[in-house]
Amino acid sequence: MNMKKTFAAFLDRDGVINLDFGHVGNPEEIIYVKGAFKAVRMLNNLNFYVFIVSNQAGIGKGKYTYEDYLECIEKIKKDFANEGAVFNDIRYCPYHEEATQEKYRVKDHPFRKPNPGMLLDLEKTWNIDMKNSFLIGDKQSDLLAARAAGINGYLFDENDYLETFVKKVPEVSLQVKKMKKDLF
Ligand SMILES: [Mg+2]
Repeated sequence: MNMKKTFAAFLDRDGVINLDFGHVGNPEEIIYVKGAFKAVRMLNNLNFYVFIVSNQAGIGKGKYTYEDYLECIEKIKKDFANEGAVFNDIRYCPYHEEATQEKYRVKDHPFRKPNPGMLLDLEKTWNIDMKNSFLIGDKQSDLLAARAAGINGYLFDENDYLETFVKKVPEVSLQVKKMKKDLF
């Protein structure tokens, strides 16, 4: 069994992978940010595990259903796979203290960012080396979750080009350098 730790890129979904129209729960509302496919493919090629960590309180609040969420995430996975880009795992958090559905009404759920629960769960599941990992989000709550999980978080603007942004992430530059060193 290979116990070697791998490193990861934790990506928020709405506002990082696809545009955030507020409670995106319909596959027709999935419009990707520029450079999204290339960014994830690059991370795959650099041996980063790529994870989506997404608050989805819209489920708990009844803005859309769990099935709607699944449809969206399946579309995202399929569209990226068609472009040769892979998400290794996905975590989402439907819980919110003001959820209309009782089963989702939880105050300060450990998975809900700014809490780091989704990141820590993925760290444990995949034996992730957090020292060489990072997060990209579009909100302060994303960055706070990263900090609480002990990794760097970088603030992205959905109007920017994701591949260019990812290239500038220090943890990514480091892997690019290491890979070049291994080649020569
Ligand atoms: Mg977001």
